[in-house]
Amino acid sequence: MPDRSFLTWPFFADRHRELAERLEAWCAKNLPVAHDDVDAACRELVTRLGKDGWLKPTALDTENPAALDVRTLCLTRETLARHDGLADFAFAMQGLGTGALSLFGSPDQQSWLAKTRAGKAISAFALSEPRSGSDVANMEMAATRDRDSYLLSGEKTWISNGGIADFYVVFARTGEAPGAKGLSAFVVPSETEGLIVAERLEVIAPHPLARLSFDNARVPASALVGKPGDGFRIAMSVLDVFRSTVGAAALGFARRALDESIKRVAERRLFGAPMAELQMVQGHIADMALDVDAAALLVYRAAWTKDLGAARVTREAAMAKLFATDKAQEVIDKAVQLHGGDGVRRGHIVERLYREIRALRIYEGASDVQKVVIARQVLGAA
Ligand SMILES: Cc1cc2nc3c(=O)[nH]c(=O)nc-3n(C[C@H](O)[C@H](O)[C@H](O)COP(=O)(O)OP(=O)(O)OC[C@H]3O[C@@H](n4cnc5c(N)ncnc54)[C@H](O)[C@@H]3O)c2cc1C
Repeated sequence: MPDRSFLTWPFFADRHRELAERLEAWCAKNLPVAHDDVDAACRELVTRLGKDGWLKPTALDTENPAALDVRTLCLTRETLARHDGLADFAFAMQGLGTGALSLFGSPDQQSWLAKTRAGKAISAFALSEPRSGSDVANMEMAATRDRDSYLLSGEKTWISNGGIADFYVVFARTGEAPGAKGLSAFVVPSETEGLIVAERLEVIAPHPLARLSFDNARVPASALVGKPGDGFRIAMSVLDVFRSTVGAAALGFARRALDESIKRVAERRLFGAPMAELQMVQGHIADMALDVDAAALLVYRAAWTKDLGAARVTREAAMAKLFATDKAQEVIDKAVQLHGGDGVRRGHIVERLYREIRALRIYEGASDVQKVVIARQVLGAA
């Protein structure tokens, strides 16, 4: 049984504790799903999560508007990740892909949200390009105004849900100013003429991922999210909400690795006694438990701070993401070690976690970028 003592921390209200219990029961019954065909598995997960109401917190409820509850997002990601990385991915992308619309969309653009919250439409967030990943301000993709529409030309890559999304929130250069101040965001339905999935990308922990090509893809001027030139601010505001949730997913992977290790060292006998009696094994377990608790404190501090109404949580979210993802990598590596040969056996749970954690230290701002962000915040405040 995973450690649930963190749910008594003061960051949470009773509704969070109740949600965690209900979701745990749902996961035990429904997860994991088979991953042989990741597109089909993802569609199925979005449908099931939507049908049973779990996607509701990912986007604004237009009938009953309230700020997104980051603690709910984090608790859900942590729990899903502990059971099935692809389920966490399916949930997370419904939030990241619609974040710009929840925060800045027009009523017409927000009409997508009822569908994504019900699992009836799949969304994606298209920011990265072949020559601008970490360096977002270097974006090349252009959106040119043509009377009452915009023409989008260029490429986006590493786009999660690329190939299965019903629509993409696409960032492009509209040129109001050089660099970051000349970007804008657009809602682009996947069937838009001139938009093609140029390449499907395979990674070590498979999920739907693609490079997209735009060749004079025409969207109406009403597809612009917010104002021209607002794109960078919109992207950063979305990441401000969702960045700590990446830490929460990492926390879920780490917690699962710790749970599996506790079971393993209790059951496996070495040198005539359970492994758990070897002091160096105890040292590993202690380090793992410490990293898990410290990561949880940073993740839920960031979520709680945002939920309490902080305009931005740049420092808190960067610390949560950096620490939780880097430490989860270490925790999972220790779990692999404690499992011996079984730990590297294809299909073993800790082998899967070992592959699943890696990309989280790269996307939504690589670990090095988070350090730059934290240093700027700390030095700026001083
Ligand atoms: C599985 C996966 C899913 C993704 N999903 C999406 C998505 O849905 N939408 C989307 O838009 N993008 C997505 N991405 C792209 C992701 O955000 C980028 O890969 C990431 O921003 C890094 O960009 P890059 O790959 O171009 O690496 P680069 O920008 O070339 O950076 C390479 C490395 O340089 C280091 N580095 C970067 N900046 C600094 C610095 N200032 N100081 C020191 N070191 C630095 C980091 O270690 C970084 O990993 C995804 C990526 C992956 C792997």
